[in-house]
Parts: sequence; structure tokens; C-alpha cells
Amino acid sequence: MNAPITAAAAAPKVGFVSLGCPKALTDSELILTQLSAEGYQTSKTFEGADLVIVNTCGFIDDAVRESLDTIGEALAENGKVIVTGCLGAKEGEGGGNLVRQMHPSVLAVTGPHATQEVMDAVHAHLPKPHDPFVDLVPNAFGIAGIKLTPRHYAYLKISEGCNHRCTFCIIPSMRGDLVSRPIGDVLKEAQALFDGGVKELLVISQDTSAYGVDVKYRTGFWNGKPIKTRLFELAQSLGEMAQAHGAWVRLHYVYPYPSVDDILPLMASGLILPYLDVPFQHSHPDVLKRMKRPASGEKNMERLLRWREACPDIVVRSTFIAGFPGETEAEFEHLLDFVREAQIDRAGCFAYSPVAGAAANDIGGMLPQEVREERRARFMAVAEQVSAAKLQKRVGATLQILVDSAPGLGKKGGVGRSYADAPEIDGVVKLLPPEKISKTLRVGEFTKARIVAAQGHDLVGQPF
Ligand code: SF4
Repeated sequence: MNAPITAAAAAPKVGFVSLGCPKALTDSELILTQLSAEGYQTSKTFEGADLVIVNTCGFIDDAVRESLDTIGEALAENGKVIVTGCLGAKEGEGGGNLVRQMHPSVLAVTGPHATQEVMDAVHAHLPKPHDPFVDLVPNAFGIAGIKLTPRHYAYLKISEGCNHRCTFCIIPSMRGDLVSRPIGDVLKEAQALFDGGVKELLVISQDTSAYGVDVKYRTGFWNGKPIKTRLFELAQSLGEMAQAHGAWVRLHYVYPYPSVDDILPLMASGLILPYLDVPFQHSHPDVLKRMKRPASGEKNMERLLRWREACPDIVVRSTFIAGFPGETEAEFEHLLDFVREAQIDRAGCFAYSPVAGAAANDIGGMLPQEVREERRARFMAVAEQVSAAKLQKRVGATLQILVDSAPGLGKKGGVGRSYADAPEIDGVVKLLPPEKISKTLRVGEFTKARIVAAQGHDLVGQPF
């Protein structure tokens, strides 16, 4: 007699907390994809889970504190906790592992980009469910796996790690040297994302312009054709793919190397968005040298002006540090002049804050906290003036907007973004209710809008 068919035992549940930057988010997506492929379920609460994974950030002190607090909460409410991510790779005082020192009862600790190690730890503490039918990843993006972003945009990580050694940064010690993903794999993932409905692909890494340097721009294959592992070829192929799907490609973390000049025609022709996220951090050559920044010997202002000539619509976003050790008033004013003259469209600024383990701590010349904060505030005042004037110039223009939110099909308006706005970090376009009754707005679709006003970091648009 056949054994009776009984309901399968409930699948083990994993709680997951993802902290940190888009690069950490893509690590979370890989782990969640693997968990799902193996039949684990996720829990939205710590108590409802059999085990909790916390993907941490260890970049600045506030992030460290948030990560340690989250681990503490997960331990208090659940008890079984695996820690992964940048904080997991950080040393504590005296050289041991910081997370283990602060929370000795965690089950396992790994560094970033460690899907297999995390899965090994999960298997050790929460055995894999046995179900031969779950080895397919149930999601819209096929081989691209699970995404934690809204369905219409996604991050595409093209490499891991970084070959630079900026003195304020400990990322290379946590994520290692640059390892570029094979270009065929990257393009395959992009194809799956576009096929699954992604309308905006955000290319990320620690140093996007360095893509392929570690493999000497090795030739890979895509669709049976040879293709170099290099940013230009990647951007061109992604642009062509995006065009076929009516979608956008946006580049983040690009350094101002001469090779980036070649990308500008792709932007000018509309193949990829005329938007560059270039983390300049400073403008004064001496500060850049003390920071050991990539491309610190480049003439950034001249390069930027050339980019603007090659592609007049280009929007440049950047981040800066005010009050780096030894920064003189004159060096700081050089930075203010740079932001004005370079017409940086979107600028963020941190007051320098020492990160444990960073080489900059040994430079000397640490400025008092009030001076660092005061310079940050002065920087932001100038940057906001520049940005506001640039936004004002868009009033009257017609822009293509990707809709992020549109309750009731946009009858009461919605929120979207133009090519000038990356999700989460830039402004938005507030959409008014469409004038035409028949016009609807849908999340993940494009609409045209006439810009009628600028408000702070945002624009207001009339969809039509
Ligand atoms: S380029 Fe500099 S700041 Fe960026 S990850 Fe590499 S070392 Fe850190």
C-alpha cells in the first residue's frame, strides 16, 4: 500500500535584515535567492523566524552602531543569529573580531559577499528543508534571482572589492581587491532583469570605471560573440539591451579617468542616461593626495567641462568630505569654488569622521568637530544654491518620468523621477493629477511631464 500523502512539514523560516549601501543590498539579494532556491521561507519578524541573518554595514560609526544594535535586538528577540556583511570583517580592539567581541553568542560571522559561507552557517543551524520540487527560484527575474528593490528598478553589481587605498576608507580591507564579474554573466543578469520588467538598471561597484582591470580586459562571450570585459563595451551592450526594452541604464561610482571620455557619446546619443555619479570627495590636489584618491592627478575641472561640451544634458552627482585632516581654509575654499564652477548638479557632503582602522587617522592635523561640521554646513549651502539654480532652469522643460508611486492610477497625482534623479539619493518629480481624464499613471511606467515648478531638491511636473 502506498504511504498516505501528508502535508509537508512547515518550511524553516529565516528572518533577514539588510543594512547598508546598494552593494550590501545586492549581497542580501544573493543570499535570499539561495535561501529561496533551497526552500527556506522568510519571516517578517524576529520572533516568527527559526533563525535570523543580519547583513551589516561597517563604514561609518553611525552605521556600526546601527548594525550592532540590530544584532543585539535579533539576539534578544530570537536568539539564533548569523551576521554577515562589512561589519563582520571588522577588527575590534586588540585584534579580535568586533562582532564576536560585542555579541559573543552569535552563531556565525562572515564578511561581505559571502553567500556560500552564510549558507553553510544556515545549514549547520537550521537544516535545509527536503523537498525535491523547490529547487527553482520562484521570482520574476529568473537567473537574476530575488531583488529587494521595487520591481521596476534594480541594481546590477559588476565587480566586488577595490584596488585603491583611499586613506579614509576601510572597504578594501573588508571587501578585498577588485574582482570583476565575467561580462557574459553580467549581461545575462541584465537581460533577465529587463525581461522581468525592470525599467531602470543601476550599475554599481566600488569603482565602475575600473571594470575589467583585474582580468586585463579579458575577452568574454555574450550571445555567442566575443566582448571585452571593459566599461565601454559593457555600457554599450547594456544600453542596446535597455533600448530594446524601453528602459534606462544609470552608471554609479565612476572615477574621472580619461577612459570615461569614451562613454560620453553613449550618453549624448541617448543609449545610456546622461547621468554620472562621480565621487570626487575633494578638489584640492594636496587634499586628494592625502586622501590617496583614484585619479587624483587628473585635471578634474577640465575633464568635467569637456564632458559637458560632449553631452550638454549631463547631470553630475558627487559626494565630498569637508574637514579632512589637515584641510586648510584655503583648501576648503578651493572645494567651494570647484562646486560652483563645476556646477555639480547633486552633491552630498560628510563632515570628516575618523573610521577605526583607516590610514587617515595617522595623517595628523585632525580638525575640531565644530570646524568639520561648520565646513560641511557651508559646503551644503553653496551646493544647494548651485543645485537649486540648475533645477530652476528645468522649469518649462518636458521630461520623461519613470513613475515610482501613483495611488489610484495617478488620479491624485504621484511621484516619479527623471534621468537626473537616481532612486533614494537624489530628488524626485512630484506629479500633479493629469489634466486629461483618460490619462493614467502606473508604477514602473514612463510618462511625459511638463515641469511647472522647482521645490527644494525636487521638481513639480504636469503629466500629459
Ligand atoms: S575607491 Fe577609495 S573610497 Fe572607494 S572603495 Fe576604493 S578605497 Fe574605498
